[in-house]
Amino acid sequence: MVDIRKVHKSFGTLEVLKGIDLSVRAGEVTVVLGPSGSGKSTLLRTINHLEKVDRGTISVDGALVGYRRSGNRLYELPEREVLRRRTRIGFVFQNFNLFPHLTVLDNVIEAPVSALKRPRKEAVESARRLLERVGLADKADAYPRQLSGGQQQRVAIARALALEPKLLLFDEPTSALDPELVGEVLDVIRDLADQGTTMIVVTHEIGFAREVADTVVFMDDGRIVEQGPPAEVLERPGEERTRLFLSKVL
Ligand code: ATP
Ligand code: MG
Repeated sequence: MVDIRKVHKSFGTLEVLKGIDLSVRAGEVTVVLGPSGSGKSTLLRTINHLEKVDRGTISVDGALVGYRRSGNRLYELPEREVLRRRTRIGFVFQNFNLFPHLTVLDNVIEAPVSALKRPRKEAVESARRLLERVGLADKADAYPRQLSGGQQQRVAIARALALEPKLLLFDEPTSALDPELVGEVLDVIRDLADQGTTMIVVTHEIGFAREVADTVVFMDDGRIVEQGPPAEVLERPGEERTRLFLSKVL
């Protein structure tokens, strides 16, 4: 489903991704761990072309991200096509990023109506189903400021799902939340995992990683230091850097 090959990315003279290789199979959950500044967010952002890679390729569901191939050469896609492909990948951010002036329902139907040109009535019906799925059917007419952080994040997840993405990316979806609200958001992500949604989740929630991840990836200094099933990487890490990191977050 996701194939990342030899990806390099620098900001000025700072090389942030130093040759990333990663494959994610359809229906699997990959959890990415690593210290601050190791390149986790940058990696997620390259997957939907919010950041352009300097070298290497990424493909999602068989299509190259940001480029098309012709013979041996890659050609950059026009912006319109980049945006179209981006709608197939859902992105949930740390800070929810809801539209403050729109109701919950209007937040969820915004992209299907404006980007995918779905009829409004159809979009509303499917938005109501999604809000039900994240436990917020009764909040459809509320505004984001009237919701708790956990509720806002669940709306953000419903909004991402409204585009029926092939892949969902989460960048520290619970780290802006009060501790008592973390569980309700993780429960929604766990449900999605149970239903076979392909996801890449950057998080420091080790318990969640242990229960839900098919693969845990540990990044440090722009590289994948180790990856494998949670039972291996979390319980018997082979690398000293992984051990050190886990001893700090556990
Ligand atoms: P955190 O756990 O703190 O979120 P991270 O692993 O997500 O960290 P990134 O956000 O990917 O790390 O950043 C990796 C490095 O790249 C950092 O040194 C950061 O300062 C730098 N960086 C990220 N985005 C930019 C940018 N747009 N311009 C310049 N430097 C950037
Ligand atoms: Mg980050």
